[in-house]
Amino acid sequence: MTTQVHVVGGGVIGLACAWELSRNGHDVTIVAPAPGRDGASWVAAGMLAPVTEAQFGESALTALLLEGSRRWPAFATALESASGQRIGYDATGTLTVALDASDRASLDDLLAYQHALGLEATRRNATECRQLVPALSPSLRGGIDVPGDHQVDNRALLGALVEACRVAGVAFDAGTVHAVASGPELVLTDGRCLHPDQAVLAAGVGLPDIAGLDPMTTPEVRPVKGHILRLGPPPGGTTPLLRRTVRGLVHGHSVYLVPRRDGSLVVGATVEERGVDTTVQAGAVHELLCDARAIVPGVDELELREAAAGLRPGTPDNTPRIGWCGIEGVAVATGHYRNGILLAPLTAAAVADLLGRRPVPPLIEALAPA
Ligand SMILES: Cc1cc2nc3c(=O)[nH]c(=O)nc-3n(C[C@H](O)[C@H](O)[C@H](O)COP(=O)(O)OP(=O)(O)OC[C@H]3O[C@@H](n4cnc5c(N)ncnc54)[C@H](O)[C@@H]3O)c2cc1C
Repeated sequence: MTTQVHVVGGGVIGLACAWELSRNGHDVTIVAPAPGRDGASWVAAGMLAPVTEAQFGESALTALLLEGSRRWPAFATALESASGQRIGYDATGTLTVALDASDRASLDDLLAYQHALGLEATRRNATECRQLVPALSPSLRGGIDVPGDHQVDNRALLGALVEACRVAGVAFDAGTVHAVASGPELVLTDGRCLHPDQAVLAAGVGLPDIAGLDPMTTPEVRPVKGHILRLGPPPGGTTPLLRRTVRGLVHGHSVYLVPRRDGSLVVGATVEERGVDTTVQAGAVHELLCDARAIVPGVDELELREAAAGLRPGTPDNTPRIGWCGIEGVAVATGHYRNGILLAPLTAAAVADLLGRRPVPPLIEALAPA
């Protein structure tokens, strides 16, 4: 059934949903002030990491992340073809390394958990780690090799999604939604009222600011701040420092370095509960740089191009919410916390099933906000 759908939010979730809905024959408009240029999606690192993101006690989330990861190769191919743009999807694996003996012990616990879940991960000693990644510090205590954790250039991804939407005929409205009412009706901050047949709220941490939603059927979303840095390629066009993502435990702190094809690096990220606050703090930048150079000393020579902070949309159980909310014809897709880039293709397919009134798989049914 073709309907007129308004998607509220221009991050990776809103854009992926809009593209998928338009591929399903809907007449789609994105309502967002800066589609593809703001939100957590803009600052993110772009890791597609179901295994290295597996946390103790979150096996259901890990199953979701693995399903999200399986969607990526076909999604990347289809998006590059539809947009005519490269998105830097890279299936080279991830290496997680430990700096001291205590970090090594923590990694061994994590490896045992990964194996208990049947995930593919291999213990490597320090020499093997340096064979895989020559730029690593000689003083590391070994690591875990995870071939199935990949990455994409999140900013190239957003640009390609905007272009694919444009090519597919999706309309863009630069408004900000103030309230939602039955109808459905979207009331914008500039006073206009829009009346689509169906709406998808993919506003990330902006969801709680939208009036008119029933708290019983609306996900509880909170901002979780993350500082992140972007470093330039080695000076003089020399060999890139890294060719695969390196994650590290440095005296108990987590850090990651994600290489881009041009030799630049994304270094992240802090995890902070500070409400709606995207100021960049010197202490956080200092900490990220110290931890990054402890495992990859060559970081010292790179240009610091950008320091930013973004707000991950977190839910009480770190699991996204995808499904109908209390207003007829209005669905939500948010709460993707640390994995919104990874889960975008899966979320978009689920939202298209939902709005097309097709059954959604049990994995998605379990994410219904109510
Ligand atoms: C530092 C950092 C690193 C990360 N690294 C990764 C990673 O490596 N891999 C990964 O998978 N995930 C990562 N994430 C998480 C990922 O970025 C998020 O889960 C994802 O971007 C959420 O996408 P979203 O579209 O829901 O929200 P956002 O990207 O925040 O987009 C929300 C959109 O809604 C719009 N909006 C808000 N309110 C309104 C309104 N009232 N009306 C209209 N529009 C509105 C905003 O303008 C914006 O366009 C990271 C996050 C951070 C902060």
